[in-house]
Amino acid sequence: MDVTEQQLFDYLQCPVYYDITVNKKLPSEQPVQLSDLLMKVTRFFYLQLSLGEVPTLATLKRKWDMVFQPYQEILGEKKAIEGLQLLMKLYDWAKETKLVVIDIDSPYAITSGKNKLEGVMGVIAAGKNGRDELLVTSFSPRMSHEDLDALKLKYTIDSYAYRLKYGKDLSGIRIHHVKHGKDSLTFRKNSDYERLFGTINGVCKSLENNIYYVRDHYGCAICPVNNLCKYWFNNY
Ligand code: SF4
Repeated sequence: MDVTEQQLFDYLQCPVYYDITVNKKLPSEQPVQLSDLLMKVTRFFYLQLSLGEVPTLATLKRKWDMVFQPYQEILGEKKAIEGLQLLMKLYDWAKETKLVVIDIDSPYAITSGKNKLEGVMGVIAAGKNGRDELLVTSFSPRMSHEDLDALKLKYTIDSYAYRLKYGKDLSGIRIHHVKHGKDSLTFRKNSDYERLFGTINGVCKSLENNIYYVRDHYGCAICPVNNLCKYWFNNY
């Protein structure tokens, strides 16, 4: 069975959510987040760097204005300024560290038994030790937690996708926390890849057998389809 990365994460978030949005194709309105808009500009910035072009700060500001403008009324002026300040911090950090982006958004296909996971790899940058690393950019106001970084499935997927594409392993995963101007590091090893294969096969098996159970978690309160979810009405 073939699944996309988005489908895998949707199913893991909540199988009922997957059933509503993917199988039944009912509309799901995700509320816009400042971090999503910031990531759009960041990807543009990194893409330019990967092409050997260094955009000016003015170009980045113009791009931010364009991306933010449709959400101006919803998010308000304060968020527009906050977003711009974060982008300026990111720009300064990239300049200071002479950031070199090697690869961005490369498609991958990870085979696990008779199943296949498809998606696009994140950002690969040149590490300080001369070896490549996965660069994760976080706009969260909080530093990420080491234990959670060690488990994040997307980092495992991207690390394995790098191995498949380049025939070698990354030196590690750098999470750059823009607001704090600090980095945290994490790594992946073979046991993490074994867990990834198990997850792909487990989700595919559940999908093949039409298993859509409720994940009883706090996310129901902010789930974008809780108005369509019969379990939400019955149980919460
Ligand atoms: S409301 Fe809860 S149970 Fe229903 S789809 Fe959303 S997360 Fe799943």
